Amino acid sequence: MVLPMKQITLLGATGSIGLRTLDLVSSFPEEFVVAGLAARGSNVDRVADLCRKYSPRAVALLDVEARDRLARLLPAPRPELLAGPEGLVTLARDVKADIVVSALVGGAGLLPTMAAIQAGRTVALANKETLVMAGRLMTAAARARGVKLLPVDSEHSAVFQCLAGHSRADVHRVLLTASGGPFRETPKARLATVTVEDALQHPTWKMGAKITIDSATLMNKGLEIIEARWLFDLAPDQVQVVVHPQSIVHSMVEYIDGAVIAQLGVADMGVPILYALTYPERRPTPAARLDLARIGQLTFSEPDVDKFPCLRLARAALEAGGAAPVILNAANEVAVAAFLDRRIGFTEIAELIQEALDHGRAGEFASIEACVAVDAETRQAVQRSIDVRRGGPRA
Ligand code: NAD
Ligand code: MG
Repeated sequence: MVLPMKQITLLGATGSIGLRTLDLVSSFPEEFVVAGLAARGSNVDRVADLCRKYSPRAVALLDVEARDRLARLLPAPRPELLAGPEGLVTLARDVKADIVVSALVGGAGLLPTMAAIQAGRTVALANKETLVMAGRLMTAAARARGVKLLPVDSEHSAVFQCLAGHSRADVHRVLLTASGGPFRETPKARLATVTVEDALQHPTWKMGAKITIDSATLMNKGLEIIEARWLFDLAPDQVQVVVHPQSIVHSMVEYIDGAVIAQLGVADMGVPILYALTYPERRPTPAARLDLARIGQLTFSEPDVDKFPCLRLARAALEAGGAAPVILNAANEVAVAAFLDRRIGFTEIAELIQEALDHGRAGEFASIEACVAVDAETRQAVQRSIDVRRGGPRA
């Protein structure tokens, strides 16, 4: 029997997750076809190459001028070309697809991902920031539409696999593993002077710049605690973190009887991406195989929240609830961008987030619009705070 091909819309096509997803589309040409592609548009030549290779029906670029340049690069018949934030939403909502891979980075993914859910499309979610910002609204919308939110993040894919076939009521807690990042063994006193290059040296995973910095501050694990809370409907204290530098055990679920189920594998995002695309089935892949005897040792330790305050801040934001995770995420995005631009030092990232949480507008919000407003307000406040620190304009 010939199965119908799965149509995939890919938000964040030019990123690390996006390109890995497209590799998988190429590896399974009889199984997947690209319906739509979205990206920021900073590399139009690359987007044009992807269009020639994957023939999407529609493409959305955040940058309007990039869309016009793309139109000049692609002779007719070309895909439908959309632009701007509303173009991304239109792509996610209106282009027919069986699955939308949400792999934009940061809050930019919120509205398109919500649009995909509201249109009733299965979402393979890599873009954890969206769940951090609006987990309650997104999971409620998914429940209301009967939409599946399939995790792509390796830890959450692991938890998802460890939960399969078990009763949710029997879950005692979830243990997210963390590599510990490049500064796991760096003395706390040295962190103020580490460079962007030092922070971009992730020991086990090759990823986009923002998540690589988040991995160095451990904010990535903080965001993942919040992501797990929403994806698996857990209480905040049911999500714990254990440092595991080898990145072989991708996460674990501990049940009420003390049994712990873990998912293991080599550090290759192709595995969780493909599982989300083929769920509930699996496919044979040529991916590197786990050779435990060669690895020899798997080690585990407590995270150091004194040295990595971002982990503590994320948990505090989760416990505070309401707008606090939105503020946490927005402050982190602005601070990480400023660090990558060499405008602030590494330890200032946590300082700025703490400041934003102290001064931000707390309380619940009831709509995505209100969430977007808190996000925008926080970004401006943190930007001002960075200017003041650098002796720039004071608002
Ligand atoms: P990346 O920086 O490599 O790619 C980001 C993509 O989003 C690019 O296609 C870029 O064009 C697009 N983009 C960025 N800003 C945009 C904006 N404002 N509007 C529209 N498009 C925009 O990022 P990545 O490493 O692929 O990560 C993507 C998401 O997946 C993040 O949320 C990250 O936390 C998550 N994730 C990534 C990995 C990984 O291995 N890279 C693992 C787990 C989770
Ligand atoms: Mg992860």
